[in-house]
Amino acid sequence: MTQVKQEEEILDVLKTVDDPELTNVSVYDLGMVHSILISEKDVYVTMVPTFAGCPALDFIERDVKLAVETLPWVERCEVTFSFEQQWTTDDITEQGKIQLKKLGISPPPENYTIGTEWTVACPYCESNYTSMENVFGPTACRSILYCLDCRNPFEAMKPVLKDTSELIS
Ligand SMILES: [Zn+2]
Repeated sequence: MTQVKQEEEILDVLKTVDDPELTNVSVYDLGMVHSILISEKDVYVTMVPTFAGCPALDFIERDVKLAVETLPWVERCEVTFSFEQQWTTDDITEQGKIQLKKLGISPPPENYTIGTEWTVACPYCESNYTSMENVFGPTACRSILYCLDCRNPFEAMKPVLKDTSELIS
């Protein structure tokens, strides 16, 4: 088997590993997979944590390891989190955004720039006529909103961008 084929197989497996807090949203579609290194039968997966406040990294590490090790040619998979790489909500794939909407979570806005107003479309009816109910959702990464058109409450992911604080100072 070629290395390219092996990488493909690993990516396919990673597309089946869900974030423990987000049913049917894979760690791959959340943009958490940073790199894959294959050394014969050993696989090293480097991942980028999403929101620092989400305490699920141990579960993700275990789930990814177990999933990759189900591949017959893999003997051992090691998962590490790189805190040097910075994850942003732009890393979420189109598939990831579709899955988030199915959970009633509005994906973060695209091409968002800091300081600008952020409109959130309702994940159920796509209406922009929404209001912020509670900035503090069930986790630090989400907010609770309310759709004034279809009258459903929903959650929205806050946009996370690359840290530009050093540019400002
Ligand atoms: Zn709606």
